[in-house]
Amino acid sequence: MKIAIVGCGIGGLAAALFLHRQGHDLTVLESFDRARPVGSGLMIQPTGQAVLARLGLLEAALQRSARVGRLDGRDIKGPRPLNLLYSDWQPTAFGLGMHRAELFGLLYDAAQSEGIAPKTSHRVAASHQDAQGRWLVLQSDQSDQGEQAAAKSPLGPFGLVVDASGSHSPLRGDLVTRDRPFPFGAVWSCVDSDALADDRLHQRFDGARFMMGALPLGKNLLGKNLPQRGGITTDAPKTSFAIFWSLQREGLEAWQNDYPNWLNSLQSYWPELAPAIAELEGPRAFTAAWYNDTCLKRFVQPGMAHIGDAAHTTSPQLGQGGNLALLDAAVLADALQANEDLTAALAAYDAHRRPHVQLYQRLSRWVTPLFQSDQRAWGWLRNTSMPLAGRIGWMARTQTRVMSGVQTGLLPWQHTKAEALAASAKKDES
Ligand SMILES: Cc1cc2nc3c(=O)[nH]c(=O)nc-3n(C[C@H](O)[C@H](O)[C@H](O)COP(=O)(O)OP(=O)(O)OC[C@H]3O[C@@H](n4cnc5c(N)ncnc54)[C@H](O)[C@@H]3O)c2cc1C
Repeated sequence: MKIAIVGCGIGGLAAALFLHRQGHDLTVLESFDRARPVGSGLMIQPTGQAVLARLGLLEAALQRSARVGRLDGRDIKGPRPLNLLYSDWQPTAFGLGMHRAELFGLLYDAAQSEGIAPKTSHRVAASHQDAQGRWLVLQSDQSDQGEQAAAKSPLGPFGLVVDASGSHSPLRGDLVTRDRPFPFGAVWSCVDSDALADDRLHQRFDGARFMMGALPLGKNLLGKNLPQRGGITTDAPKTSFAIFWSLQREGLEAWQNDYPNWLNSLQSYWPELAPAIAELEGPRAFTAAWYNDTCLKRFVQPGMAHIGDAAHTTSPQLGQGGNLALLDAAVLADALQANEDLTAALAAYDAHRRPHVQLYQRLSRWVTPLFQSDQRAWGWLRNTSMPLAGRIGWMARTQTRVMSGVQTGLLPWQHTKAEALAASAKKDES
């Protein structure tokens, strides 16, 4: 089939690899002038790892990341609300802390080596369907004239368009049922430190108003000229950490202006991490990220499938977005292979992915105020309830399964294997 993939991020690249290997004729469109990653670090959960394994990229991912065995979250006033061990769920399970540039590079290099060449500087603005198939309308610049403008006439027709254009997708049409900003986001950067254990995601809270985190990304990232490295050079192979500081949208400017005082306050807030942050080049070494809670009534429309953030966004509190995008890509490819009829394939993709995604969106909505809120009560609730839950075996295991991405329902026994989520073998009987 002639397939267009819009967006060359995590989901788009994974979909391109799966669909290319199935023999489809691909056109991959990316709005950037050159394909590049956005952001600093992310956590690849067992679900995302299962997809990378199917793509033959897990071994390489292991080389380019840090193994994360636990989530270790402490309140500076004493309580330790989070102490989640992957091994509580499965002795061999772990998360992978990865720089986004590494994950992107892994997928992008694999795509290039298989002959997939994304067309950059192609920003898709709209799509329509007619009897011939799906068409894509590119955004034309004011400056486009003659040949340039002609080159931006609709592309197509395609048998299928895969919308992997991320959280600001222009292709969702009237599918959106919810699109609300979370009041808090975060500023992100990347530091090197040997003062923190490199086997866990660290978090520090002060109630729910303040939250800081440090996710290990592996050693030897130095010299790779990764974004947001703040120009640090050092001889010792320290561990790199993606760091994030929780902020309200309207608080960004005040934080930037008050940066020296903020840096000072870190001496008492997180003394082990403060020296590494002091080496950064001020607020410009940080990137701000804001999140929306966006839901679609379906992930498909005639001749088009939405995957990743184009189909669903949420806060990164549960660390699932990239993993959900990888799962979407794998399941969509399976559904296309198992169903000759495109409508049945799209229905199978939607039926397999939407319930899992909706569960994680709901859980993120519930959990986020416990970590990012103005209300003191949320911090208190988290500090009292979560340690208690952590001491009760089945509750601790449920929390870990949620973190691992394998929970499929609200009840503790509703979970499955990561590999089962990463594949949809069932043929649609209808
Ligand atoms: C700060 C932060 C921390 C996060 N932490 C985690 C984590 O720990 N674990 C996790 O799993 N997830 C995390 N996420 C979420 C995760 O990054 C996203 O869910 C994931 O990147 C989604 O992948 P995607 O391919 O759908 O979209 P993206 O990776 O955003 O890719 C979309 C691509 O489409 C391109 N594009 C956009 N519009 C157009 C257009 N009109 N035409 C053509 N191309 C277009 C973009 O340039 C981009 O390359 C985090 C997100 C943020 C912001």
